[in-house]
Amino acid sequence: MTAQTMFEKIWNSHIVADEEGEILLYVDRALIHEGSSHAFAALAKNNYKVARPQQVFAFTDHYVPTTGREKGVAGIAVDEIRNMVIGQHENTAKHGIRLFGFDDPRQGILHIVPPEQGITQPGLLICGADSHTSTHGAFGCIAFGIGASDMTHVMATQATWQRKPKTLRITVDGKPGFGVSPKDIILAIIAKIGAEGGVGHAIEYAGPVFRSMSMEGRMTVCNMSIEAGARCGMIAPDETTFAYMAGRPFAPKKGAEWDAAMAKWKLLPTDAGATFDREVSLDAAQIEPMVTWGVNPEMAGAVGGHVPDPKNAPDERRRSDWTMALDYMGLTAGMALTDIRIDRVFIGSCTNSRIEDIRAAAEVAKLGRAVVPAWVVPGSKVVKAQAEKEGLDRILLDAGFEWRDPGCSMCTAINGDQLKPGERSASTSNRNFRNRQGPGGRTHLVSPAMAAAAALKGHFTDVRDLIK
Ligand code: SF4
Repeated sequence: MTAQTMFEKIWNSHIVADEEGEILLYVDRALIHEGSSHAFAALAKNNYKVARPQQVFAFTDHYVPTTGREKGVAGIAVDEIRNMVIGQHENTAKHGIRLFGFDDPRQGILHIVPPEQGITQPGLLICGADSHTSTHGAFGCIAFGIGASDMTHVMATQATWQRKPKTLRITVDGKPGFGVSPKDIILAIIAKIGAEGGVGHAIEYAGPVFRSMSMEGRMTVCNMSIEAGARCGMIAPDETTFAYMAGRPFAPKKGAEWDAAMAKWKLLPTDAGATFDREVSLDAAQIEPMVTWGVNPEMAGAVGGHVPDPKNAPDERRRSDWTMALDYMGLTAGMALTDIRIDRVFIGSCTNSRIEDIRAAAEVAKLGRAVVPAWVVPGSKVVKAQAEKEGLDRILLDAGFEWRDPGCSMCTAINGDQLKPGERSASTSNRNFRNRQGPGGRTHLVSPAMAAAAALKGHFTDVRDLIK
């Protein structure tokens, strides 16, 4: 039998129809949020039912406030947001869709909750109403974001029309140095291949660095695949994956069910001898804590480096992009990244708001006191409860950080948590586009430890100098 990549195995097992290269794929899980109201409106307009409501999961995350939640939904101050949350309750109830809603003790971001509940599993095909659905590929599944009209189609038919992407394997060999996190690794990958380096491709991350990485770290890496332009990112399931999944509420139950699942999951990894359309490799030993200086995640450098001079850009397009980026970011070519002063810190988002991220931030926070406003927004109520059980909230509060309720918050700023024009943030989120964290806001992407270090110093600093 021909050797196959993991992507090909999962893709081929989900094909329903092939119309001259347009492939209809069966969708195992669909993930939606409050902003999916358009998809429900389209269903209503066409008098469609949800085909398989038990395979659709709804989350309240994008619009929810991250403070003042004590009064419940009725206490949401902004009418528009309150109505969206109520509308989501009504729509999901009407169609029999499971909702991890505002008052649910499992509430959180749609890329944080499914893995922690065992909804995300190896070998599945998952579509989400958010581009960072690529996160779920950390479990060895195909997971990608789709738009509102495609989501309407998925809810009505449990299938989606797609074109098959090419395959790209990114291998990171060696061992990361002290203080280098999964966020630094994915930022280094994107800096190397470019923000469009993965366009038209499904990425498989391979090599010893990912094999020894936790599931939380793998999710951070796969989450940002979309920032390299890729359709999805994935990592082969292994003992780390299986240990993470065991006992989670929606995972197969121990016994015959678990054994049958394991038998299938173990067949998923790419076969020896399978070929990819492209291969890229990096040496982990060369990767350092990273900071972005521009307006896409490719514009990043090691914290010990400098803001580049557009005169030295490798081509005319990038010379122009860098010039515009420095202008928007209010930076001068040649300045040290550690000389960039920040106004705020945001530790959160589906990239970095899991328990390991909160632990990493607290580890640094306990070494000093925040000198700028610094928010920590856990990815879910489960993460929040775990962090509080470990006393991490106390460490962060004692160091002057704010400890908030779960949601997307300042990652996308649509709930009102946002930068003021011209304000500069150290953010653990995934996008540093213009206006992403509020009109005129300037975003620098970093790891949780680097964000906490910046909070203590008021400027970027090499976290390894603090924790050595
Ligand atoms: S945290 Fe940001 S990227 Fe993640 S789901 Fe929310 S808005 Fe999307």
